[in-house]
Amino acid sequence: MPALRSMLAVEEALERILGAAAPLPAEATPIADTVGRAMADDLIAQRTVPPWDNSAMDGYAVRSADVAKAPVRLRVIETIYAGQLPTRALAPGECSQIMTGAPMPRGADAVVMQERTERRSETEVEILESVGAQSFVRARGEDVREGETLLPKGSAIGVAEAALLWSQGFTAVNVPRRPRVAILATGDELSTAETAASGKIIDSGSPALALAAARCGAIATRLGIAQDSAESLARALSTAASGFDAVLTIGGVSGGAHDFVRAALAEAGATMDFWKVAIKPGKPLAFGRRGATLFFGLPGNPTSSLVSFELFVRPALRRMLGHAQVLTPRMDGRTEVEIRKPAGLTHFIRAQAHWRDGDLWAKPLETQSSGAIRSMVGATHLIVVPSATTQVAAGGAVALHPLSWKE
Ligand code: AMP
Ligand code: MG
Repeated sequence: MPALRSMLAVEEALERILGAAAPLPAEATPIADTVGRAMADDLIAQRTVPPWDNSAMDGYAVRSADVAKAPVRLRVIETIYAGQLPTRALAPGECSQIMTGAPMPRGADAVVMQERTERRSETEVEILESVGAQSFVRARGEDVREGETLLPKGSAIGVAEAALLWSQGFTAVNVPRRPRVAILATGDELSTAETAASGKIIDSGSPALALAAARCGAIATRLGIAQDSAESLARALSTAASGFDAVLTIGGVSGGAHDFVRAALAEAGATMDFWKVAIKPGKPLAFGRRGATLFFGLPGNPTSSLVSFELFVRPALRRMLGHAQVLTPRMDGRTEVEIRKPAGLTHFIRAQAHWRDGDLWAKPLETQSSGAIRSMVGATHLIVVPSATTQVAAGGAVALHPLSWKE
């Protein structure tokens, strides 16, 4: 068992978590269900697109040499519609009427758009302007060439990538399967909304974390609420230990008299790596594993649990999903107000940021109490204040971690 350090730096905690998380086995998946996931392998193009030179305009396919001295009259030998193949090659003085997307006839090297022509008769057209070679011609293979790498392993699949896959004739591709995530609330004070009685607090943490996990692409299962007793927790966690890739517990990790999660995780056979991370909010944060299953003991305060999820669980789930990019890229911004804090913890201040005069200005939300969910509502970014920093002047440069929870 690795030594339990008292409090890890945020970077080291993340490194250990990512060291323990690995892409899950790949499964062939219908393309529509791969959006938000990542390629399990390099994907090699199996066809050239477009398969032939084709017209980018409705107009006339010509030999550019023939129209160099426009206006000039050409003989129209056929009309080529999209979806048809040309039947004739162009001889000098000839052209073919052509529609957007239709293959270019042999002999033609340019297209004159309809608007630059005047049809004189069934068989004759006047070309009003000259065009250079390759004008309005989309070259064969301009989009994709057979054999090239279309999407590298680990690249994220969005709507455009799905369209590319479909354009290649694929209906399914291999992506790592979705992580199965269990969520367990803990606390004698918690109840569901249906059974809420006086003295009780509604469990908002487990539905919120289940939602956050699902939005990362995981399959979330809520295991309910365990009581603050070693037996209740052990019972719930023994269920959780099997069949899940990650188990998230909420609350009970801060070391209070009723904080049994630590003992229960050990009882469930999880080898714990660390218990505390030097961050605010969310300092109590336990991490360990049992086999390939990752255990996260998240803090109970609603804002702390969401921030911890964003900083630590999301990257782990993205790694399991096979994404090459697991961390959210941070942005350079400026703080609207002075920030002061003691050295020692990295602070993640919930803020609303707006672009103004070319800078992203972040304003901390009025309440920063980690127990108040309102200290997160409306936040667009977390202002990241490094552990050693004690003061940032108003207008000073800060790193901003964007939150995507509203999209
Ligand atoms: P704990 O870490 O268990 O001491 O919890 C810290 C605070 O978060 C307490 O006020 C709890 O009532 C609250 N809390 C814990 N779990 C949840 C939850 N699932 N939903 C809402 N609040 C919670
Ligand atoms: Mg508790």
